[in-house]
Amino acid sequence: MSDPKQSKVVLDESQMPTHWYNLVADLPTPPAPHLHPGTRQPLVPADLEPLFPPGLIEQEASTERWIEIPTEVHDIYRLWRPSPFYRARRLEAALGTTAKIYYKYEGASPVGSHKTNSAVPQAYFNKIAGRTRLTTETGAGQWGSALAFATQVFGLTCDIWQVRSSYESKPYRHYLMETFGATAVASPSELTEAGRAIREQFPDTTGSLGMAISEAVEAAAKDPNASYSLGSVLNHVALHQTVIGQETLKQLELFDEGPADYLFACAGGGSNLAGISFPFIRENLEGRAATKIVACEPKAAPSLTEGEFKYDFGDTAHLTPLLKMYSLGPDFVPDPVHAGGLRYHGMAPLVSHCYHEKLIDAIAIGQLEAFEAGVVFARAEGIVPASESNHAIAGAIRQAKASTEAGESPVIVIGVSGSGQLDLPAYAEFLSGGMENS
Ligand SMILES: *Cc1c(COP(=O)(O)O)cnc(C)c1O
Repeated sequence: MSDPKQSKVVLDESQMPTHWYNLVADLPTPPAPHLHPGTRQPLVPADLEPLFPPGLIEQEASTERWIEIPTEVHDIYRLWRPSPFYRARRLEAALGTTAKIYYKYEGASPVGSHKTNSAVPQAYFNKIAGRTRLTTETGAGQWGSALAFATQVFGLTCDIWQVRSSYESKPYRHYLMETFGATAVASPSELTEAGRAIREQFPDTTGSLGMAISEAVEAAAKDPNASYSLGSVLNHVALHQTVIGQETLKQLELFDEGPADYLFACAGGGSNLAGISFPFIRENLEGRAATKIVACEPKAAPSLTEGEFKYDFGDTAHLTPLLKMYSLGPDFVPDPVHAGGLRYHGMAPLVSHCYHEKLIDAIAIGQLEAFEAGVVFARAEGIVPASESNHAIAGAIRQAKASTEAGESPVIVIGVSGSGQLDLPAYAEFLSGGMENS
């Protein structure tokens, strides 16, 4: 395409990916297996059966390169996929940069983030396994609302534990979960043993994802008809998100652009980063590209840049398997920054492995720099990004400025993981000068 003003590429539904891409098949060194918390032996499928349905357990350990997306899931993806891809011409102009900036936008999904890409297949594989109820945790509420939507599609009930600080400061998200028919409670709650124990010890706690996971896991383990569902971190979640990166590669090609020089995505548990970057890592490994992939994490929860690479628990009560990951420890309670989706102590084992093997880089971004970037982006492109996505945009703007100073014009791709329409109170706080850095 040679239109010098071209601003977007919208694929039609026939160009949607038909398979998820499993990076494990192409990794030069195999990632460390998850371990049983009691025996410290590699997990066997039976260990996960109380928590997850067989379809997802199989994906968690799969080494197949391509895994077919079931028709029932593909049909629901059609509601918002393929997602749009833009050349950020007005952002480039606003920055006065010589870089070419593109972004992939996941905010047009039913709940305004990439989370539905995994919520829908998770609900589907539970449904076909005969489960009738899902339990989960949510931070800012994006995952909770995505799962509330997905369970409703497949006729399952859904109980959600939301980190208390977010439950109270972002009420619109639980209104959204309730609109889709789910129940949402603030965590730690009185409904579980884990929640009651934490509240007794720390009556004023603002909660954490680690605590909310403990509650949701306990609730699922006690109900034979229920499964637990996790919105990030695990291999099967990363797998589902790879529709993002597959589409992005195609869309970049339709812009007649060579391989990207840089790819920026925000990283909380690592799922949107995995989703957009794993297909790019494949291009790098096969010698077709040399894209520098940069995980942008918040300074308030810098698991990659300041954590330790070790076996650790995913939750506070130590109910989850041991995962080999960069972690700040399951008792870490980050400051209640606005990017609630990034307030997690660990990082997806596959993303951690890639970072350890130097297949990706990482930087930490403060809250003020993130919001400053978000406002510049909103004013230029007309899309208010999610608080989390602002970290990726800030990383890209840093690079655009450095490239401009160096007289270079690289291709920079940003993963904009969600919409910030429900984060507007955080923007208001930033604009009034009342926001703290972290
Ligand atoms: C949940 C969320 C994140 C962080 O989760 P990851 O698993 O790291 O992707 C980032 N952006 C948005 C919009 C989210 O909803």
